[in-house]
Amino acid sequence: MTPYNKFKDALERIASGSVKDPVALAKNALSGTGPRTQNLIGKTSGRLTVFEKAELTHAFGGKNKQMWLCKCACGNMKKVSTKDFNGGYVLSCGCLLTEARSLNMKRYHHRRDKILNDEEVA
Ligand SMILES: [Zn+2]
Repeated sequence: MTPYNKFKDALERIASGSVKDPVALAKNALSGTGPRTQNLIGKTSGRLTVFEKAELTHAFGGKNKQMWLCKCACGNMKKVSTKDFNGGYVLSCGCLLTEARSLNMKRYHHRRDKILNDEEVA
């Protein structure tokens, strides 16, 4: 998306009234048009889709990290840094992990039930 289109898109979203913080969105649209800033808006990683640019965080060691506000497929919002997003380290708001855990638990219980039943038969 060109900077012009990005700004136009932001204006349309503000005009449609679906934006909670129009000032921040307008600032986002105007900033980050330099060649050094990556634009991850609209990109997806796992269940996450980058919704809009969030704040810079001051990381340990003095480097600023750009955060991105992502929308998870489950509906939750999560902030992810550029590095974590591009590296594929974060794939969901956390729901993926929770689901994986409960799946493992189900498998565990299933296995345990089977073992108990087998013992009953034997
Ligand atoms: Zn989620």
